[in-house]
Amino acid sequence: MKKRVFSGARPTGRQHLGNYLGAIQNYVNLQDEYDCIYCIVDIHALTTLEDTSSLKKNIYEMMLDWLAAGLDPRKSILFVQSHVPEVTELHTLLSMVTPLSWLLRVPTFKEKVKLQPQNVNYGLVGYPVLMTADIVLYKAEVVPVGEDQLPHLELAREISRRFNNLFGDAFPEPQAKLTTFPLVLGLDGKEKMSKQLGNDIELALSEEETVARVMEAVTDPARRYRNDLGHPEICNVFRLHGYFSPFQQDDLAERCRTAQIGCVECKEILAQEINTTLRSFRERRATLAGKPQYITDVLAEAASRARAIARETIREVKQRIGLI
Ligand code: SF4
Repeated sequence: MKKRVFSGARPTGRQHLGNYLGAIQNYVNLQDEYDCIYCIVDIHALTTLEDTSSLKKNIYEMMLDWLAAGLDPRKSILFVQSHVPEVTELHTLLSMVTPLSWLLRVPTFKEKVKLQPQNVNYGLVGYPVLMTADIVLYKAEVVPVGEDQLPHLELAREISRRFNNLFGDAFPEPQAKLTTFPLVLGLDGKEKMSKQLGNDIELALSEEETVARVMEAVTDPARRYRNDLGHPEICNVFRLHGYFSPFQQDDLAERCRTAQIGCVECKEILAQEINTTLRSFRERRATLAGKPQYITDVLAEAASRARAIARETIREVKQRIGLI
């Protein structure tokens, strides 16, 4: 029996290079070793989203990217959180065993309160309980996380442990699978690549659009003129070369330091390498985009598989509590 992995991601629409290098590649790699459940967490998105008009399109575009990148619906369950309503039922039941003080001390809650003081909704404080429900509804044993997410997973473990102590062992305590996600900086070379910040390169761009985006990247500020000597170690374009053309990094570093290569040429090489890496992804994406019914079918079939597991868990949970 393979161990079960659960991971969720917000519906952010078309994915970018940061998503690809930081999460999607890892999702794809885990598929053979684990029984993987990957979820687009649309209900979580509502805690911070006031305008929901793009939600449906974002889910569709994100799923297109996941599938084109190699997530395989025959190996993994790829579904949308709200398509399995049992998660909200479990969220309510788990909320009854979760002390409010545990939730109020969560650092991300405090950050969100500062970020959106006009919309401090109940969902924001209950977010970790819904996240716990996401994981334990499928009795997932392994959750891939970056170090920064460890406190959230620890809280999920505390909540499931408390339920188990009160009502018997319903849930395995989910274990963290610590993954070193590369921190991919955006085109500004300062902040993490993010759609919201507008510093991203979408996977689904055309080759020409990719070149244009890469040309916008900030480089070593000391290289104002072509003959200025460069410092590749502080240049984000150089860092991106590390992901897409590591074999020529040493050569580029040397040519940058001695001003034998200009930033325009260096960026052209990077754009070319990105386009080469993503060529087959883009072909698969274009094919899938021509079959919207296929995406709908994948999501419906996955939701049905996920629901079968979820219903079993809910039945057991209710029995343990004494509700049935
Ligand atoms: S030549 Fe390349 S590595 Fe050097 S500063 Fe310009 S973009 Fe960065």
